[in-house]
Amino acid sequence: MTDTNESREGRPVAQARDFPIDTHMHTAFSHDSNVLLELYAAQAAELGIREIAITDHVDFMPGSGGYRYFDFNVRRKVIGDAAERWAGKVAIRHGVEITYESRYEEEIGEYLRTHPFDYSIGSVHAVSDSPYARARIETFVAGKTVAEAVAPYFAEVEAAIRSGMFDTVGHLDQCKRWLRPWFPPAVFATIPASYEPLLAALVDGGTALEVNSSGLRHPEHETYPAAWVVARFHELGGRRVTVGSDAHLPQSFAFGLEEAAEIVAAAGFDRLSLERALDRGDLLLPERFRR
Ligand SMILES: [Zn+2]
Ligand SMILES: [Zn+2]
Repeated sequence: MTDTNESREGRPVAQARDFPIDTHMHTAFSHDSNVLLELYAAQAAELGIREIAITDHVDFMPGSGGYRYFDFNVRRKVIGDAAERWAGKVAIRHGVEITYESRYEEEIGEYLRTHPFDYSIGSVHAVSDSPYARARIETFVAGKTVAEAVAPYFAEVEAAIRSGMFDTVGHLDQCKRWLRPWFPPAVFATIPASYEPLLAALVDGGTALEVNSSGLRHPEHETYPAAWVVARFHELGGRRVTVGSDAHLPQSFAFGLEEAAEIVAAAGFDRLSLERALDRGDLLLPERFRR
């Protein structure tokens, strides 16, 4: 994983300061990170990020990196202890990022019913037998239009949303990242019809849309999803949005959240969200974003 500080318009993208929340980050409880939770908490205090949700991976496909990677009770205690230590300075939430696969929907539901989290993200990843996996993607893309190339990813994302199991859906169109050699990010704006069913499902079920800022530190230089998608979500009646850095490295924490919040505000939202069941008045966007 590479983290760069390039920005598209020459304005340096950086870690946000004085911000209500970063809802998405990985620690050493994830197979693909070795960041200690303490390092995120210390940065949050320093930067003025009031709340952080720890969202390590849980995968359901045997053999996947996040398959039974951590012990639920051990992790819950580590996060709970940190939450106590940082109380009054940074609120630390016990979250999870589930790799959604429709073939494991029943197991995922059962897991979430028996393992209480404060906050859950459902995300579609390129698991090893996915058409987007490194070994398959070139053959998969050959001869396809961009709409055809996103179809399997979007179908799984829509199923994740329709399952109603998650507080939010993570990085709605992360397939943009894997498809970049064939379809530059700007091309995605030519397929609004592919996005409509996903946005409609979010509106219908009340699942939040995550504006994932990790794309700002990747060569795409745009969020997952891009600003126009967030604007369309609001137009369709979307009410709940979250912003998350998806940090796997210390320097990625809160990175690009200022830009993500600008997108959210420009779309017409005045606040962020976390738990599905709560309207959090304390997650109002700071004054500088108000329109
Ligand atoms: Zn993810
Ligand atoms: Zn993540």
